[in-house]
Amino acid sequence: MSAATQTKYEVVIGLEVHAQLKTKTKIFCSCPVNFGNDPNMNACPVCLGMPGVLPVLNKQVVAYAIKTGLALGCQIAKRCKFDRKQYFYPDLPKNYQISQYDEPICLNGSLDINGKRIAIQRIHMEEDAGKLVHAGSDRLHGSDYSLVDYNRTGTPLIEIVSMPDMRSAEEAREYAQTLRGILRYLDVCDGNLEEGSMRCDVNLSLRPIGSTTFGTRTETKNVNSFKSLVRAVESEIERQSEILDSGGRIVQETRLFDENTGKTFSMRSKEEAHDYRYFPEPDLVPLEISQAWIKEIKETVPELPHEKKTRYQEEYGLSLDDTKVLIDDKNMAEFYEAVVRLGANAKKAANWLIGPITAYLKENKTDIIDCCMTPKQLVDLLKALENGIVNDNTAKAEILEEILVNGTEVEEIINKKGLSQITDESALKTIVKEIIEQNPEQLKQLKEGKEKVRGFFVGQAMKKTNGKASPAIVNKLIDEFLKSS
Ligand code: ADP
Ligand code: MG
Ligand code: ZN
Repeated sequence: MSAATQTKYEVVIGLEVHAQLKTKTKIFCSCPVNFGNDPNMNACPVCLGMPGVLPVLNKQVVAYAIKTGLALGCQIAKRCKFDRKQYFYPDLPKNYQISQYDEPICLNGSLDINGKRIAIQRIHMEEDAGKLVHAGSDRLHGSDYSLVDYNRTGTPLIEIVSMPDMRSAEEAREYAQTLRGILRYLDVCDGNLEEGSMRCDVNLSLRPIGSTTFGTRTETKNVNSFKSLVRAVESEIERQSEILDSGGRIVQETRLFDENTGKTFSMRSKEEAHDYRYFPEPDLVPLEISQAWIKEIKETVPELPHEKKTRYQEEYGLSLDDTKVLIDDKNMAEFYEAVVRLGANAKKAANWLIGPITAYLKENKTDIIDCCMTPKQLVDLLKALENGIVNDNTAKAEILEEILVNGTEVEEIINKKGLSQITDESALKTIVKEIIEQNPEQLKQLKEGKEKVRGFFVGQAMKKTNGKASPAIVNKLIDEFLKSS
């Protein structure tokens, strides 16, 4: 945002987030929810919208919606109902979408981003549409016909609607990322923006600073990553401020974000609720939700990322940055906690997980849960280090990968590969003496106080022992030589 825009207008953003629920079957029929199957494999008369079929509500969808609502501090409605939202689209075979209009399942929640409360207006359940595949090859238009894949039709979604409480691209990104973290912890959605299992629609308006009424907003769809979210917000601020600066008016409309140009473009003028001709879905009875069921679901809500964030800093004494890395993936957080429970030093365990282990996982595009290492094995490795059985280098270079890949016990690796650290002082003394005698120039420098040269001697000792010398003892021996010579 340009400096001029920043002092002139306040940015107002509200996000509508669609999250695909991780159920086994669709929301109103028993077709499986599977990605990557051949087109139209997972479709039946119900999700194809054949005449005379009846939808049957998937109970798990309701449970996941309630679980999400509870995690976001919403009130769970005692009673809610489904409505038909009419519109025509080739991938929506019924020509209406079953959604919830005026009686959604969850109301009035909130989400905290860096200490700021973003209010959540509502969460409702609905079905997803299918997918159009633009095929063929036309020299002018790229594709000259489209195919419809109904596999996604009827996939359960929840839509989480925020109040217009965000004031910058950064806040919008923070909100979306925090929300994704929660959905993943709840295990209700995999939160993959690129694959479309979490989709953000960005509502944005500007108003003169100091104004208390909202300006006209646009809604931008097609935002496929957090980076795109930030870019879409920035380009829309730019566009709207230019219009307002030149005395123009913002048209309320739906826009699409184009990854390639980094700009938004108009898709359609904004439809109002009455355009959809909402009416209660006559094929589904209203839903009554018992307190007992809510209570039961509440017990399945795990400790959430923001709660861990506070606890890791207070209980384990970790920095905020370290905490963030550990809690980003729930499996990593659980692994870490298991390691600490087994008696490892909290800080050292964190360093190993954040450092070499995360590096390995990234390089091999894998997950802590998919590796063979158990928490106990990491504890064993930390113990071997602490007791001076192996040194840091050996642990990283020779042992870690073997545990991660094969799950071999630490002791077995050390014995098999002969990795025990050389702690025999007399043996090391001979080696250190030899190195010092062979390098009189470096010795002189060290004596003159060039502490850097110490690294050279330690390195030589490592080289001669295939990396197995105890650095602590080598250092001690160097000191002794310095004193005595
Ligand atoms: P609709 O159902 O037509 O999409 P809603 O009133 O439900 O409209 O609002 C949808 C989203 O737009 C919400 O996230 C809300 O916070 C946001 N929103 C509403 N008014 C504004 C505004 N003036 N500027 C920015 N965002 C807005
Ligand atoms: Mg909307
Ligand atoms: Zn079906």
